[in-house]
Amino acid sequence: MNILDRYHAMEYGPAPEARNEADAWLAARDFGKALFIDGGWKAASGGKTFDTSEPSSGKLLAKVSDASAADIDAAVAAATKALPKWSASSGYQRAKVLYAIGRAMQRHQRLFAVLESIDNGKPIRESRDIDVPLAIRHFIHHAGWAQALDKDFPGHKGVGVVGQIIPWNFPLLMLAWKIAPALAAGCTVVLKPAEFTPLTAILFAEICERAGVPKGVVNIVQGGPEAGAAIVNHPGIQKIAFTGSSEVGKIIRKATAGSGKKLSLELGGKSAFIVFEDADLDSAVEGLVDGIWFNQGQVCCAGSRLLVQEGIAEALIAKVKTRMSRLRVGSPLDKNTDIGPLVDPTQLDRVKGLVAEGAKQGAVCWQPDAALPATGYYHLPTLATGVSPANILAQEEVFGPVLATMTFRNTEEAIELANNTRYGLAASVWSENVNLALHVAPQLKAGVVWVNGTNMFDAACGFGGYRESGFGREGGREGMLEYLAAKLPLGPVIKPAVVSAQPVEQADGATIDRTAKLFIGGKQVRPDGNYSLAVATANGKLAGEVGFGNRKDIRDAVSAARACKGWPEATAYNRSQVLYYLAENLSGRAGEFATRLTELTGATPKAAREEVDQSIERLFLYAGLADKFEGRVHQPPARAVTLALHEPVGVVGIVAPDASPLLGLISLVAPALAMGNTVVAVPSERYPLLATDLYQVIEYSDVPAGAINIVTGRSAELAGVLAKHDDVDGLWVFADAETCAKAEAESIGNLKRVWSGNGRGLDWASDEAAGDAFLRRAVEVKNVWVPYGD
Ligand code: NAD
Repeated sequence: MNILDRYHAMEYGPAPEARNEADAWLAARDFGKALFIDGGWKAASGGKTFDTSEPSSGKLLAKVSDASAADIDAAVAAATKALPKWSASSGYQRAKVLYAIGRAMQRHQRLFAVLESIDNGKPIRESRDIDVPLAIRHFIHHAGWAQALDKDFPGHKGVGVVGQIIPWNFPLLMLAWKIAPALAAGCTVVLKPAEFTPLTAILFAEICERAGVPKGVVNIVQGGPEAGAAIVNHPGIQKIAFTGSSEVGKIIRKATAGSGKKLSLELGGKSAFIVFEDADLDSAVEGLVDGIWFNQGQVCCAGSRLLVQEGIAEALIAKVKTRMSRLRVGSPLDKNTDIGPLVDPTQLDRVKGLVAEGAKQGAVCWQPDAALPATGYYHLPTLATGVSPANILAQEEVFGPVLATMTFRNTEEAIELANNTRYGLAASVWSENVNLALHVAPQLKAGVVWVNGTNMFDAACGFGGYRESGFGREGGREGMLEYLAAKLPLGPVIKPAVVSAQPVEQADGATIDRTAKLFIGGKQVRPDGNYSLAVATANGKLAGEVGFGNRKDIRDAVSAARACKGWPEATAYNRSQVLYYLAENLSGRAGEFATRLTELTGATPKAAREEVDQSIERLFLYAGLADKFEGRVHQPPARAVTLALHEPVGVVGIVAPDASPLLGLISLVAPALAMGNTVVAVPSERYPLLATDLYQVIEYSDVPAGAINIVTGRSAELAGVLAKHDDVDGLWVFADAETCAKAEAESIGNLKRVWSGNGRGLDWASDEAAGDAFLRRAVEVKNVWVPYGD
């Protein structure tokens, strides 16, 4: 045997990480008192516990206190008591506490990593080199935000007491993503880890004790769905931040509807890993290992769908198989291990079941010829080829080490396949042609896109999804905003519309009878039902009739809005010019609109003219801001730049208020348009003629067909149709409380972003009812990571 043969025959020896410190910590702790409330350790009031065990052996690690509803009450009470002092403390004081947490975590870095690997099963290389350092980076990064608040977020303050619920796949990292921005914003928290992985959160609470976190500022409770639901439904909480499955995310969206709680949801994904034929295949294979086999594929943004260009598919698959054969499956505490066990037998069964079903549906599932350890919940890395786009492995989040492969012929097909999912969390694009990659990235419906890379994260760069991957971002500026409330000028409570009797006094016959239609796809069209609604003047006379829009009309309007490509793809400068032109054409008819306002609402001529002038001014404002509310470039501590791009939300439904019927409508429609959204607007139910009078203004202003659609009718009913429509991406509702609550509850089909006034209007005439707070709701922030260097 020569040296080369000997070299190839060499086997890895075991390289176990020592676990004695972690075992000593486990032995010393009383897990029957594992609830960290008001700075002290409590047993669950009902005395219940749940088991947490080690995925690599199945052995019991601890019996942990299982919080009851009374314990959640106590935790919320502690957070509420601590709030005034904490939120009033200076940014510097809060920054010192965040920094102290980060430094204390650094001192116990190895213990955190070992405990995490023991409890979750993730390879120690990952917990040691990624989870824990990144968690620390979040605390240190957010110390800075605490001091930058006044300068960077004027007029904002912390939302208050926050309930946070996290999953088991990155227990410590998800905790850091949640707690660091909340503390920086001056909020106090009640956090619940997942029931499979309670341990590092307990160690973190010990760190809080030592780092000088004031009592009650951080409360950590343990338990499962029941404890989670008690947090979600608690009236003393002002914001819920949730990371977990889309299924539970929808339950939470429904449960919080109408409560006024701020909500962010970081949910599941089915992210595309797109390899073009000019990609560096060896790098792409390494990227793929990280993309799908990192943490056994139990990663929300796992690149679980490999889309490969036809010409290189065979070569790439061969390389992937060779690489898979070299992945080392074994103990999470062995430093050579690439793939550890899944977190729990239920998760293992789920993954096996999905693979079996995928095979039944035609996928060819391949696994390397490797032995599995004798104990533990292991699953071999699995490659599924011949996967049709409808196959369960292409559509469902497996949350395991399973890669589904499909091929594409050209760029358009790659984008179409990538977007063929209800999720929208992340995507990877591999090509040596950066022009192509940056052409594709904006067209992918995903909150994060990595160019020639994968799974890059940083505290300064927002992370979060589109569509059923949830809403809200974690990290950086956008992440801070999730814990801050902007001061908007509140208007009066909106009462439910009273369906009034038809006005009795008819028109005097002096003018030609005019019945306004609906405005859909750039044309005035009759309502589907062929019914009209009479509109009364302030004196109860008949002012005119408008179309009585129904479900079908909304569907047509949404289709027209979706089909309109000219608006979202127009340059910001182009959109700005059209908005200026709208203002110009409205100003040409200002007198006429003012007269109409007086006739309908009884406003004095002076007040009516003021509302029209302000409407024109607002159009002017958003025309000017269309090309100024831009994204940013982040410089994370990596050889990469991150482009935080502002993209339109998509099709936005708008239910406008009766108060200030022209100004209210324009204050909502103009920012949505400015950012490239297409709009389906339901104008004031009581004064719809102000919107129907706008049809001609729109027609003369070069607005592309379908960019603005207006459907008159009953606001509550049409809001419900918009809420349930799965092709509407965003919905802004200023209506009575019940309509707002229903719109939120009924939005769960596609988890559209709902902004509701919760039954309150705004003071539309105030300068504060315009600007960034509106534009922010009109965009999604997509973070595109572009590495550099050879
Ligand atoms: P899960 O939704 O089952 O549980 C998540 C958390 O919610 C747990 O703490 C659980 O106890 C709690 N919970 C369960 N039912 C609840 C209810 N009815 N009310 C309130 N709380 C409830 O998810 P999981 O299995 O723990 O985690 C896996 C999921 O998390 C995957 O879908 C994954 O994609 C997602 N995830 C998303 C991100 C992201 O940033 N987008 C990050 C990590 C994980």
